[in-house]
Amino acid sequence: MIRVVFLGPPGAGKGTQAERIARKYNVPHISTGDILREAVKEGTELGKIAKSYMDKGELVPDDIIIGIIKERLSQPDVKERGFILDGFPRTLAQAEALDKMLEDLSMPLDRVIYLNVDDEEIVKRLLARGRADDTEEVIRNRLRVYREQTAPLIDYYSEKCILAEVYGVGEIDEITKKIEEFLGLEG
Ligand code: AMP
Repeated sequence: MIRVVFLGPPGAGKGTQAERIARKYNVPHISTGDILREAVKEGTELGKIAKSYMDKGELVPDDIIIGIIKERLSQPDVKERGFILDGFPRTLAQAEALDKMLEDLSMPLDRVIYLNVDDEEIVKRLLARGRADDTEEVIRNRLRVYREQTAPLIDYYSEKCILAEVYGVGEIDEITKKIEEFLGLEG
């Protein structure tokens, strides 16, 4: 059973690392970015709304995102196996809503893994990735949004004494190993 949040700037490798841990330990990987991109692809009402924010590198409104997570965390696989949250929470309001949800479900959070990567490296990685929302202007906005709205969560979880910082530059395997250590996994 693993219950963890992956925190960090866009391009830190949250998705890559979350995917690896999820596969290896058979834990549901919940990425709000993936859920939103799927909705955009399917052209649902949610997708249409989300796209207008994603295209600009802005955050999709809290109530929409919180609703998605609430629904997902109530599924039986999460109760059985836990979760790896990737890209959520991204605002203080989302973090507080998550606390409330987990309390109601009697599922305390084990750890928050903060993947830290230097700004220059982030821009380099995002430009190389070439996703639709990875143009230079949108990247710059996403970094600004991260600093203003998401970075304060580092202190929020640090005060709860569940934050573990991992430097996200280097060999992917080595970074995975460090995360496993912090999660108390054998590797
Ligand atoms: P990501 O794949 O995590 O980089 O997310 C891509 C985009 O989806 C972000 O730039 C936001 O527009 C939106 N998004 C993903 N997760 C959230 C969230 N927790 N809160 C608000 N917007 C989100």
